[in-house]
Amino acid sequence: MASPLPSSAPVKYIFVTGGVASSLGKGILSSALGRLLEAHGLRVTIQKFDPYINVDAGTMNPYEHGEVYVTDDGAETDLDLGHYERFLGVPMSQANNVTTGRVYSGVIAKERAGAYLGKTVQVVPHVIDEIKGWMRRLAETGDYDVIITEIGGTAGDIESLPYLEAIRQHSLEAGRANTCLIHLTLIPYLAAAGELKTKPTQHSVKMLQSYGLQPDVLVCRAEHPLPPDVRRKIALFCNVEPEAVIEARDAESIYEVPLLLREQSLDEVVMERLRLEDQVMDDLAEGLDDWVEFLRRQKNPEGQVKIALVGKYVAHQDAYKSISESFLLAAAAHRVQVEVVLVLSDEVTSDNVAEQLDGCSGILVAPGFGDRGIAGKIQAVRYARENGIPFLGICLGMQVAVIEYARHVCGWPDAHSTEFDADSPHPVIALMEEQKGITDKGGTMRLGQYECRLTEGTRARAIYGEDTVWERHRHRYEVNNALRYKLREGGLVFSGLNPDQDLVEIIELPESGDGPTHPWFMGVQFHPEYKSTVQRPHPLFVAFVEAALAQARAEGSLTAPKEPTRMRRVRRASARVLADG
Ligand code: GLN
Repeated sequence: MASPLPSSAPVKYIFVTGGVASSLGKGILSSALGRLLEAHGLRVTIQKFDPYINVDAGTMNPYEHGEVYVTDDGAETDLDLGHYERFLGVPMSQANNVTTGRVYSGVIAKERAGAYLGKTVQVVPHVIDEIKGWMRRLAETGDYDVIITEIGGTAGDIESLPYLEAIRQHSLEAGRANTCLIHLTLIPYLAAAGELKTKPTQHSVKMLQSYGLQPDVLVCRAEHPLPPDVRRKIALFCNVEPEAVIEARDAESIYEVPLLLREQSLDEVVMERLRLEDQVMDDLAEGLDDWVEFLRRQKNPEGQVKIALVGKYVAHQDAYKSISESFLLAAAAHRVQVEVVLVLSDEVTSDNVAEQLDGCSGILVAPGFGDRGIAGKIQAVRYARENGIPFLGICLGMQVAVIEYARHVCGWPDAHSTEFDADSPHPVIALMEEQKGITDKGGTMRLGQYECRLTEGTRARAIYGEDTVWERHRHRYEVNNALRYKLREGGLVFSGLNPDQDLVEIIELPESGDGPTHPWFMGVQFHPEYKSTVQRPHPLFVAFVEAALAQARAEGSLTAPKEPTRMRRVRRASARVLADG
């Protein structure tokens, strides 16, 4: 996409910090604002700084930090990058997620190389300079007009101080007209007093001011509307313009947030601050057409279908974030709701599998590591395969499907993955050649996007409608090519292969033929959930939901949508956007 700005225009920087409490939704705010700026024709990307010492999120347990997201270039990142991509529809990269660990390893590597020429290496200036270097890196590509930078954690935490100092210095260097600081804060409601309280926000802003930072915009999360006098008070005491105090009420869906912020002109306030007012579109509706259409579909479902997600991290609501969002996006494409039924794999046995998966018109077996819950996952695959229930296995879920097939169809009861049984006589899943000898855990898997060629005449080929696709990976084990022939003889179809290394990327069972058949049975070694956006819900998820819908219709289990259609606020918001552009 070409920039609408003159080639000499400086890159604009928006920083988003959080105050008072964590989990206020800086990631969604950044994504929603980014989407609005895109609608004004600007080229936008979003970067996140995480103040922890891990070099990346790859070594963190999903219970600790939710899902690990993976980009095209193989970065293992915070799950907020998933929101950025789903909202903006542009790919993120390693440069979009930087941690304190990465900053320090850069500084230490330079120190070892002698790059500091004998100086004493210190937080100020060296660590701050390294952070500023990462702030400029995306700008230097020339691909963006605006870079939104989200600072993880809460302002005032010891570990986020270097980032605040870097913002201060960077704003001076880039020019005040080219930077905008947005502070996301909480205005609690004290029921006993019947009042909204602004004091925590005032303190949080004072703290920022003590570091030389003055927020330009305050976005206030509140459970009740902010009356004009409260807004004025916040503006006066926090030293911001009254129109730059933006109210962020809870939304029914995160995808409504761009429209709700637009209602309060957050986009225009920010663009004015950044001297981008000439770029404000008279008719914003056009730039948000697809978004409003998507919301209409999401908010007016014609029925509900249940799909089981079988995994071992189901207790953490964010552990399978991209999978649940992919279902939501694919469901909207069909104008239905998907209720994701979380099934803890550890608890699934041959005795209770029918009960655990009762009422589900599709079964997804999730990615994962380690052998806890494997037996339950195998039971779930078997149940889907034998009962003709649409099935999708992702990464470990696909590997388990191959193990199940080898055991129960090909007649190798001892078949396993060497991840779980190093001595299995039939290791149908085995460590990849290039993984042998690797002992470090961080950043050493097969990561990022790889080519996948689709076999003519297969379901995979029909779903994608093209013969070559690129998908993102995060694994060490693979289908063992030495035993592939036996699985193929047993009727398993390898419908996607990586041409460079001859690795199996997709398995499926045919719908018809002489051998074993199934209405919709697929497994993928890669992660389609990382490439699902509002603009383009992933074709595999769209096809899977379609198969589950067909199953539900055939069984009469398609139910009414869970909540009555509640489109009021969005209708109001979208109507206003459509009306005044
Ligand atoms: N544990 C498996 C492997 O390393 C699967 C990984 C995954 O599901 N992401 O190959």
